[in-house]
Amino acid sequence: CSANSSTIEHPKDKLLGGLLSHVFDEASCPSRYQSALYWKVSNHTTSAYLVEKLRRYEALHKKCGPDTEVYKKAVEQLKSNRSTGPMECNYVVWMASDGLGNRILSITSAFLYALLNNKVLLLDLPEDMKGLFCEPFPNTTWVLPSDFPINNLKWVWRFEKDPYRYGDMLKKKVLSNDMNPANASFPLPAYLYLHLVHSNDDFDKMFYCQESQLLLQNFPWLLLRSNQYFVPALFLIPEFVKELSLLFPERTTVFHHLGRYLFHPSNSVWGYVTRYYEAYLANAKESLGMQIRTFAKVDVDSHLSSIMGCARSEKLLPDVDLKDPALPTVIGVKPKAVLVTSLNSGYFEKLRDMYYEHATTTGEVIGIYQPSHEEQQHTEKLSHNMKALAEMYLLSLTDSLMTSPYSTFGYVAQGLGGLNPWILVRPDKKKLCLHSMTMEPCFHFPPSYDCNAHKKVDIGSVVPYLRHCEDFPKGIKLF
Ligand code: GDP
Repeated sequence: CSANSSTIEHPKDKLLGGLLSHVFDEASCPSRYQSALYWKVSNHTTSAYLVEKLRRYEALHKKCGPDTEVYKKAVEQLKSNRSTGPMECNYVVWMASDGLGNRILSITSAFLYALLNNKVLLLDLPEDMKGLFCEPFPNTTWVLPSDFPINNLKWVWRFEKDPYRYGDMLKKKVLSNDMNPANASFPLPAYLYLHLVHSNDDFDKMFYCQESQLLLQNFPWLLLRSNQYFVPALFLIPEFVKELSLLFPERTTVFHHLGRYLFHPSNSVWGYVTRYYEAYLANAKESLGMQIRTFAKVDVDSHLSSIMGCARSEKLLPDVDLKDPALPTVIGVKPKAVLVTSLNSGYFEKLRDMYYEHATTTGEVIGIYQPSHEEQQHTEKLSHNMKALAEMYLLSLTDSLMTSPYSTFGYVAQGLGGLNPWILVRPDKKKLCLHSMTMEPCFHFPPSYDCNAHKKVDIGSVVPYLRHCEDFPKGIKLF
């Protein structure tokens, strides 16, 4: 899947099977149409229904987006903080929480939610994300304007205690899911705040029940903060089930398609991706991505030894010959490239030294590359997030991928690339990793309440197409 940028000829499918609109000015955001040159052709076709739905969404967003009269009218309604029911245009405002991988997954979930409800998605983009992505919808913007009244009123950081936090209103019985908003004994507010981060409570999680969805339709503004990939739970809401099956006949492709549709690296980030790809990966006979993310202090040597154990047993990398000094002929051999991504450089250095100092038992030549080692997570810095995004993308361009458990960074890479990763979990004493059956991300902290049965359940066993995640059994994912 190499691409020579001086002779770029678009493959027939630069629009990714109709996923992308053709109306954009190509030069304004080269990544949008050039990504198809770098990714392997997807084995997963988009449904005509999804394509049509996206075109209709784009028209709605253009009609309702910032700078339109309807938007101004809806903002006036918000300022008055009285809801008279749904308006001509209704909005979901996404707010950021945690690292870039978490954000990309929660934006995708919020977008699918908006799509299912004919609402318009706007992003309250923090400074550290401005300049990461091109606009996904033609002739409009998904960025919430800076004069949005909630910023003016300085409400922004007190959402957990927001008087209109949906879960709290349920808890205090100010709202109930079965109420008829037309008969409410008090004026309904124009917005509700949905607290969908991992640490929310069972009342906030009532969001995932059908009755709550019917109630929420009455509010023109839903402000939503999440760090979760909550898509799987939408498949449990009866109202959405039919529509979701038409949009995604192949269920395990939701993030694959929506991620490719929404996230186009800005020109600076695309520069990082394409320069690195051409310099280190384009000439390899094959490439392997190795995403190494640690959440606690670990011993690098023993961690690397289990990573290599997996790579060797799954035939992703050859062994080195520690005894035989005979020189195999390697003239003209094309290397196999390993793209390591990690916050530190220890793994990369040890791997590079190993394949420099020893020949492989197969005669292959292995090149080890790592674009950056930022040492620590600095999500508050744009330049740091640019590298994180470039590296998720670069991983998505590899032929096979090893990922770290519980990492949304890895989920984004596997989903964009359409790759079922080898996850570095130990399923049993003998095996050092597990080949995932899907490329879908895991919803780490799902609800545990069966809305129909009105009792706690194991949400991973309610329907056959939702199961516990291989890398985080508390979580659920689509199968
Ligand atoms: P998660 O914490 O693994 O689920 O992934 P997130 O992307 O949400 O948060 C981790 C953040 O740490 C990333 O967004 C980056 O800012 C940083 N980070 C972690 N691993 C890497 C890496 O391999 N490369 C780079 N450049 N940054 C990383």
